[in-house]
Amino acid sequence: RAKSTSFIGLGRMGSEMAYNLFSKQFAKAPDSQFVVCDAVPESAQAFRDNFLSNFPGANMEVAHTPVQAAVASRTIVTMLPSSPHVKEVYSGSIIPSLQKLPSEDITQTLCIDSTTLDVDVARAVASEINAIGALMVDAPVSGGVAGAKAGTLSFLVGGTEQSFKLSEQILASMGQRIIHCGPSGAGLGAKICNNLALGVQQIVIAEAMLLGQKLGLDPSVLAAVINSSTGGCWASSVNNPVPGCLPGKSPPSERDYQGGFVTALMLKDMGLATEIGKKHKCPLPLGEAAESVYAESIRTKPDLAAKDFSSVYKYLKGRAGQ
Ligand code: NAD
Repeated sequence: RAKSTSFIGLGRMGSEMAYNLFSKQFAKAPDSQFVVCDAVPESAQAFRDNFLSNFPGANMEVAHTPVQAAVASRTIVTMLPSSPHVKEVYSGSIIPSLQKLPSEDITQTLCIDSTTLDVDVARAVASEINAIGALMVDAPVSGGVAGAKAGTLSFLVGGTEQSFKLSEQILASMGQRIIHCGPSGAGLGAKICNNLALGVQQIVIAEAMLLGQKLGLDPSVLAAVINSSTGGCWASSVNNPVPGCLPGKSPPSERDYQGGFVTALMLKDMGLATEIGKKHKCPLPLGEAAESVYAESIRTKPDLAAKDFSSVYKYLKGRAGQ
């Protein structure tokens, strides 16, 4: 188990992250063992085939269940869709299978979960892991599929100092900025708060750009004004929702909102924020309004679910009769 690393969840993000992690580990230690696992076994098999075609000597197995992956490796990385999947994989598979191992194996096991999920669920899973003697960090990411592919992700990490130190070197193979945000759940808390701010900002920039055009302003002029004034933010200066108004830049709006961070995931993250806000009695009037705008945009234009969330501009434009 010492030389083995398992990666569970080889979707859009996980496949890129696992590729970077394993290729760097293989370069350092060619006798490393790798285990990949996905609910869709063809995804894990396709990942293995691709990896071995580039690194023919690598030792990589496909695990058919997370149980097999947990038993095989001391380091287990997960990148799953959301809370129910994390609960199922950890409480239903990883924890019961680790419990059957000798205690020195359990205490040397580190679990890194990079899924974006409910903070309370993540904390509950981490305390179950800690209760059996293993270590865990929540390490959600910022940077999207492009960042995952380039190995430039930011990891926002929650966990003890000891588990952070152990995870840091592994995360550095997949990202550029590794930030220890605090104890268990703090990484997710930071991620959810950031995306709450981002989700609201993207909508208000779409509104400002639309209103400006109604008032006869050239969108390029308006974007330049906002970006050199107090209203400027990432949503206006990098991810501007109006095509053609950021000279020399190529936001998703230039490609009919392909690529980037899809609206369905932004809606999921807004839901995580408003849910946790209600639980912790923290009013989020703008967050709740933004969540319903994204939900309504997908309901009226289902194709926007798989487009960058700046496509909310298209939905608002439709409402403005443009
Ligand atoms: P995805 O749906 O492409 O991948 C998830 C993978 O997990 C799939 O391959 C799925 O088959 C697998 N899976 C589901 N249940 C499983 C189980 N029980 N056992 C094993 N495998 C299982 O999702 P993604 O876009 O890679 O996102 C993953 C996480 O990263 C999400 O929490 C998302 O919010 C977050 N995230 C995504 C982006 C992005 O741009 N895509 C950016 C930042 C954060």
